[in-house]
Amino acid sequence: MTGGTPVLLEMDILITEDLQSPAIDALAAKFSVVREPLLWKDAAKLKAALANARTVMVRNQTQLTADVLGAATKLIAIGRVGVGLDNIDLPTATQRGITVIAPLDANAVSVAEVTLGLLLALARKIPQADRSTKAGGWDRRGCTGIELAGKTLAICGFGRIGKLVAKRAAVFGLRLVVFDPFVKPGDPTLAETGAVLCGKLQEALARADFVTTHSPLTPETKRMFNAQTFAAMKLGAFFVNTSRGGVVDEVALLAALQSGHLGGAALDVREVEPPKERSAFETMDNVILLPHIGSFTHEAQARTFEAVCADLERLLRGQAAVNAVNRPAISR
Ligand code: NAD
Repeated sequence: MTGGTPVLLEMDILITEDLQSPAIDALAAKFSVVREPLLWKDAAKLKAALANARTVMVRNQTQLTADVLGAATKLIAIGRVGVGLDNIDLPTATQRGITVIAPLDANAVSVAEVTLGLLLALARKIPQADRSTKAGGWDRRGCTGIELAGKTLAICGFGRIGKLVAKRAAVFGLRLVVFDPFVKPGDPTLAETGAVLCGKLQEALARADFVTTHSPLTPETKRMFNAQTFAAMKLGAFFVNTSRGGVVDEVALLAALQSGHLGGAALDVREVEPPKERSAFETMDNVILLPHIGSFTHEAQARTFEAVCADLERLLRGQAAVNAVNRPAISR
């Protein structure tokens, strides 16, 4: 769809996924906006379209690799609607003079809240109780859960979301252990929440009744939750992942659940999204599966779209962006 005037170029903003927001509609009244919701699926078509775009707006499905960005000779900015930059080759974008916009704070509260929701749902068997009651049952004994209070939660990745989870979890009376190689012992949120910083992931896992992960997906964190690390967890521990599917070896997680070593798991994110085929996860009563909705609240979506759209407009008008996550090496 192309918007009204003024049209700076044939395509000021290319949208390569199914993104909808009043903030985009407002932009389309001022710039030429082309919406191609399925373009992310076809790298060749994506490259061809990008050659004619001044800016591009993506969520997490579009893979903006060095190869794809190589074709984007007119591109001045990438607007990432969300957090997690693993689908964007940031060094290449920076080197090619492309500003990457990502409003990093916009959805952290929503992801922290869904994480607490999943911890509570696992502990109190809320999905199981809902399913059995709707099926006509009244199985109070079968739905007996455990309290969060007094248990230990391991938080892997103590950044924006990890810290918000810690503050909320502390209010529930959870004891906290943290693994994050980049966090210093003097970090004030450790003292504020009473969290204990562990030098090794295994050390944190061995102490925890619940484990939640909030690290980015990087070569170091890829499949950091694997057969070895699941084995390091306590018998019956619960595992929650609202970060990126790639940090988990799903085959190893399935094995840990099937053997009974883990008591349950909740996954908002998967290695392949949506998963190409059904797996045994779908059949397990103690597994909660969400379709990557950590940031899907009305508040977080509005904040994110408004911030990205405002920055794309600034850049298209030659002004500086507010939510840039890089400093382009050259200016375009
Ligand atoms: P952040 O950058 O503020 O925090 C990430 C933390 O992970 C940092 O403190 C970093 O030091 C730490 N870290 C880096 N390498 C690590 C390692 N090897 N082991 C342990 N910790 C490590 O990011 P954030 O805003 O808190 O977001 C965390 C992740 O959550 C994002 O990268 C993204 O993948 C994911 N996320 C998911 C959703 C969703 O919808 N489910 C929404 C937003 C973000």
